[in-house]
Amino acid sequence: MNNKFICGEGLELRSVSGRSFPVSEIFLKLAKEGAGTRDICPACGSRGHMVMKVTVSNHVDSSMWRLLRSEWFWFCSNPRCSIVYYNNDLGVYFLKDEVRTRVFHKEPPGDRPVCYCLSVTESLIREEIMVKKCCDSLEDIQRFTRAGTGRWCPITNPSGKCCREYLADLIHSILSERPGEPVERRLEELGRSFRLEIRSTPARGGAILLIEGMSCEGCAVAVRTALESLGVVVKGVDWKSGLAEILDMRGYNIEKIKETIEGIGYQVSRIVSE
Ligand SMILES: [Zn+2]
Repeated sequence: MNNKFICGEGLELRSVSGRSFPVSEIFLKLAKEGAGTRDICPACGSRGHMVMKVTVSNHVDSSMWRLLRSEWFWFCSNPRCSIVYYNNDLGVYFLKDEVRTRVFHKEPPGDRPVCYCLSVTESLIREEIMVKKCCDSLEDIQRFTRAGTGRWCPITNPSGKCCREYLADLIHSILSERPGEPVERRLEELGRSFRLEIRSTPARGGAILLIEGMSCEGCAVAVRTALESLGVVVKGVDWKSGLAEILDMRGYNIEKIKETIEGIGYQVSRIVSE
């Protein structure tokens, strides 16, 4: 397979698995004019952004790693384009179904993955907004779903960027789904109903903890992540009130839970459990 020369029949290029795709007019025009086409997606002609080789290798099959002979690739975010990664210098092109991860930008709206670090999907966000009605802003969505609060986006997100880049637009579009209702009013209404519903008595097999030392959303995320790494089912952690609600301790005794939280630097000052 040699993609170095855009010639041959019908101006086509081949993907990593040998499937041909047509080269766009825009790309050909730019190439003809001698303009730089390094960052231009050949299939759609839009300008992509650079992603590291380590990002690409995390999302493509290991049998393709031998083709990644550059430290940088480009990501096409055009939802209508079939190319995900490309490197025009190498002539390496990955089509959507040659990438193992479902790419937010390329999937139809519905149940797309949104935050890859913390496995937050579009349907989860929709449920928070439309069903539970507990979120009225990006901050609230992050508080409830933790979307956009991960730290490994360059590797976990196939675009190599944090989902925060498209999260605000996504939330706005979900809020706009109610026909005839202006988004502003909807936001206002959601704002009024916003609250963290921590129960006063814990669920059977669960617990409510009062934690000292949390000072921001990052702390709440850290506590939640530590608990979930045990397999415990967490309903919510609220840094402002210091409350954390566990729905199911999965058989761990409360000492283990306490030890886990204290292990990451917070104090558990009160426990209510069944
Ligand atoms: Zn493209």
